[in-house]
Amino acid sequence: MSRLSRHSYIANRNINRGFSKTYFPNQILFKLQPGPKRHESYTEEEPTDQPLNIANPKSMDKKRTELKVSALRNGTVIDHIPADQSFQVVKMLNLDESSRQIYFGTNLDSAKYGKKGIIKITDKFFESEEISKIALVAPSATLIEIKDYDVTSKRKVHLPDSVEKIVKCFNPKCVTNNQEIDTKFYVTEDHKGNMKLACHFCEKTMGKESIDFF
Ligand SMILES: [Zn+2]
Repeated sequence: MSRLSRHSYIANRNINRGFSKTYFPNQILFKLQPGPKRHESYTEEEPTDQPLNIANPKSMDKKRTELKVSALRNGTVIDHIPADQSFQVVKMLNLDESSRQIYFGTNLDSAKYGKKGIIKITDKFFESEEISKIALVAPSATLIEIKDYDVTSKRKVHLPDSVEKIVKCFNPKCVTNNQEIDTKFYVTEDHKGNMKLACHFCEKTMGKESIDFF
């Protein structure tokens, strides 16, 4: 048996034993619930107002493949979040404390980005300050606004020239960390094209890994 066919033999054997094919162990998809119950329940079901057609397994399969692009009635989808930033986007936007219906998925397959995260928030439309925050953490993200099931706008987030108030300076000696002064940073790039924030006050420059939001 060649190495390749041995691999596919093992994969098939695992599928026959009920592994991997149904559980997608590295994919996380659940509904964030408001209140104390939110960590107890999750669903892998298609988030839809339409009942699933149990009599028609093909329709169920279709629902499964549509998990990543399922319908919202009103609200915003944040798509194409780098998978490793998905939880940071949730935290940064305080979605873990929100009472809205939120669908969250990460490590989903993406033709363009390999693995991606996606967040769908009902009845939420972001203001420009929040969009700047998203752009700092997930510059590849796309915002899709939906009204009455129709996509009313679809745009890539883009980095602003400067950000005020939303990010802390990482320099403990910076005046903004010692007096009541709002922070201000200029968005720049290093020679490798990595995004950097330069403090208006202490002129220190920090990378994405040092960003700490208020
Ligand atoms: Zn500073």
